[in-house]
Amino acid sequence: MFQRILVANRGEIALRVIRACKELGIETVAVFSEADRGAHYLDLADEAYCIGAPPSSESYLMINRIISAAEVGNVQAIHPGYGFLSENAHFAEVCRDCNITFIGPTHEAMEKLGDKVSAKAIARAAKVPLVPGSDGLVANESEALAIANRIGYPVLIKATAGGGGKGMRVAMNDVSLQSGLKAAAVEAEKAFKNAGVYLEKYIERPRHIEVQIIADTHGNVCHLWERDCSLQRRHQKLVEESPGPTLSRDVRDDVCKAAVRLIKEAGYTNAGTVEFLFDQKENKFYFIEVNARIQVEHPVSEIVTGIDLIKAQIRVAAGEELPFKQKQIVQSGSAIEARINAEDPAHGFRGSPGTITKLRIPGGPGVRFDSHVYQGYTIGPHYDSMIGKLIVHKPSREESLACMRRALAEFVVEGIHTTIPLLKEIFSNAAFIQGDVDTTFIERTLITTKP
Ligand code: ADP
Repeated sequence: MFQRILVANRGEIALRVIRACKELGIETVAVFSEADRGAHYLDLADEAYCIGAPPSSESYLMINRIISAAEVGNVQAIHPGYGFLSENAHFAEVCRDCNITFIGPTHEAMEKLGDKVSAKAIARAAKVPLVPGSDGLVANESEALAIANRIGYPVLIKATAGGGGKGMRVAMNDVSLQSGLKAAAVEAEKAFKNAGVYLEKYIERPRHIEVQIIADTHGNVCHLWERDCSLQRRHQKLVEESPGPTLSRDVRDDVCKAAVRLIKEAGYTNAGTVEFLFDQKENKFYFIEVNARIQVEHPVSEIVTGIDLIKAQIRVAAGEELPFKQKQIVQSGSAIEARINAEDPAHGFRGSPGTITKLRIPGGPGVRFDSHVYQGYTIGPHYDSMIGKLIVHKPSREESLACMRRALAEFVVEGIHTTIPLLKEIFSNAAFIQGDVDTTFIERTLITTKP
């Protein structure tokens, strides 16, 4: 086992990893930008190094500075958290070349799965269903038009290097496909330095179902069941739960088995998530992508299975075998996570930086709050707007929903705008309570999201 780990991240996930390390008796080295000087996670780490200016391109994304901190800090491994360098195959390769264990998949597996077109080829080989669409990148406009007319409109134009909902465009007809292709390529080149785009049939009102995976380096792959992350705004998740409401036993088993097949086919190790869209009309699921890292919503899977995913990541990275078998992993009760973001509902939910002047965090049975903020904390303009994750766990979904409503009512945050009012609406919505959700739910149903 490692004696010392560097955490190449900030905010709540840095805290989460540091806490797991402490419980495992591992020392931690933290890094921070000038904007995060004085942050709480730095107090909990054994050592901390400043790695640059506030913009992430000048600090958290600087591979050379993180590697220098790892060398000065004398660590054996680096945990990348999520975002920043977590899915950067080059970073994983540099770590390996410097004899530092990257806590995540190998750079080869990451490269294969990070590119959505090559990930689809792996899914095809593993006999995992794919959304009808182009076989690979679309070479030109006439090819795109031919494919779109074959699968039928609406179609979705997606960037092969895409992420975070960026670079996606719906085309309703030939004209919007022609203009959309150009715009999507320009946007993808700008955001990901890769202009490659592909086409998919646009599934109407799908549910987003994903499967949590953990795999060791001895060939053992287990799933920790599914999460339903259909509640999204602008393709970004806001509420996640496990088990997925109203999902049949058969579909749940099939989707989890499909995820394991894909991960085995890719030779993937460590924690990862296989994402699917579920077409409710057809009762079919389709693979969309693999997230080759720990995800924001991992706690709901931890809670229903009792498996600490961060510790599992560290153990398998150190070469240990998974200490459990698939049949021992049961989904117990219902866990729901709501993301609390510093955003302004009155202005199209744009970021709402500022100082938290008053903070009262809910508690009591079944409530967990993963967060790096406190009263007096100032949210700057540089990073993600998420300030915490409110997670509840109860024996049934009905009880979890009641617990979430109670916890949200207790929550007091003053000085900044947050997503709490929107979450209160969601958890009181009759359709949501019934489990009648899809990825367009918020935009269709809740007026407060309209700018
Ligand atoms: P990203 O990597 O940018 O997050 P994904 O491929 O994971 O992109 O898709 C994110 C979300 O976009 C999905 O959860 C879903 O809401 C929507 N989406 C993606 N593909 C489709 C599709 N073919 N039809 C309808 N919605 C889609």
